[in-house]
Amino acid sequence: MVETADLVVVGGGIVGCSVVHQLARLVPRETRIVLLDRGPIAGATSGSSMGHLMVTPDDPQSYALTAASVRLWRDLQARGGGFDFQDTGALYLADTDEDAALLPVLRDQFTAVGDRAEVLDGRALRSLEPGLAEDLDAALFYPGDAVVLPMPACAVMLQEARACCPGLDVRPGCAVVGVDRDGDRIAAVRTEHGAIATRTLVNATGVWAPALAELCGAPRLPIFPRAGNLAVTAHWTTPVRTQLLEVSYLRFAHGAAAVDPTRTDDPGGHAVNVQPQSNGSCLIGSTRQFRGMDRTLNPQLLRRSLQRAIRYAPGLAAAPIVRTWVGLRPYAIDKHPLIGPWPPVRGLWIAAGHEGLGITLGPITGRLLAQQVVGVPCDVDPQPYLPARFCA
Ligand SMILES: Cc1cc2nc3c(=O)[nH]c(=O)nc-3n(C[C@H](O)[C@H](O)[C@H](O)COP(=O)(O)OP(=O)(O)OC[C@H]3O[C@@H](n4cnc5c(N)ncnc54)[C@H](O)[C@@H]3O)c2cc1C
Repeated sequence: MVETADLVVVGGGIVGCSVVHQLARLVPRETRIVLLDRGPIAGATSGSSMGHLMVTPDDPQSYALTAASVRLWRDLQARGGGFDFQDTGALYLADTDEDAALLPVLRDQFTAVGDRAEVLDGRALRSLEPGLAEDLDAALFYPGDAVVLPMPACAVMLQEARACCPGLDVRPGCAVVGVDRDGDRIAAVRTEHGAIATRTLVNATGVWAPALAELCGAPRLPIFPRAGNLAVTAHWTTPVRTQLLEVSYLRFAHGAAAVDPTRTDDPGGHAVNVQPQSNGSCLIGSTRQFRGMDRTLNPQLLRRSLQRAIRYAPGLAAAPIVRTWVGLRPYAIDKHPLIGPWPPVRGLWIAAGHEGLGITLGPITGRLLAQQVVGVPCDVDPQPYLPARFCA
């Protein structure tokens, strides 16, 4: 007998787990949802990232999306947590006059969207963070950001999902190798271990989303891997308690990429991001480089990040680095995630392309996708994120 499912979600990273989590809360209890991942749950980008939940005030649209998602994270924490949620806020640091001039601009952006951030002088800064370099004389503190551990967060989401939908079937180690269509409609997903007939397939495969879309016979999705090198220090070595970012991070990470993402000779760049963990270690990033699916470490770029981190938090010079690695961010060509139906193939939905904000945006992505699948009003205007923008 052919196996059937009402909904098949492919990709067990933060985005796929959030989609399942939110779908399970909206569909009838007896709905059969299957989550497939060819590796372990959260074993790809979501398990190789930092866990900064970042509210971005660049424009009202990004603020609405990121703030709504961080609220959903806070709700999940309030219901029991289990993923090392830390309410650290974020300190935006500046080391040049050019960057220092950005601090009040950023504060005004938070004010313009009805939120609040504070420019601190050197004294206030040191009283908040005694571990910072003594010559830093200004920073911006935004209290709304937080830090989580993405891997256990995926497990918590799936646990809650199963409580709503007892038939939820989570299958790690099960790769999708083909997709059958009936005309322009999804008909079945073929896995290494057999076929599952379904009319609804969610592609939440991050940097592999274009490959899965191709298996569905859909035109290529404009999502490209953007590598990031990370290092983590030994336990109980962090000299700071707050999530630190160079304010230039906003230009570097949120502006349009300066190079063509299909190039593989991008020299890359970095803006430092220091993230204390609940075990007293410090995650240090973050670099950005387009070079295809290559996950080998770029020691030069990483070294520059580490030097910048020590410049801001000198105590890090004595902290042993115990592990380094590379993760691949799924970069969408217009810098907005794709969340919604993919019109060329009926029954195919996309939730992918979150670049460096996928942990932040996981919950709201799941919510928007689930609300569209079920056909109820969306919490946030889904229009800017509809994949159809690439179908012209
Ligand atoms: C260095 C670095 C630092 C970051 N820091 C932050 C941060 O501080 N804050 C933040 O918000 N974001 C951060 N991000 C971004 C964030 O990690 C990503 O946007 C997010 O993890 C993407 O999640 P995903 O679920 O889309 O992809 P993934 O986690 O990669 O999940 C996709 C899954 O699909 C599976 N898959 C693929 N093809 C198939 C197939 N054919 N069959 C079955 N399964 C398949 C894969 O095995 C994988 O598990 C960072 C990223 C990096 C690399």
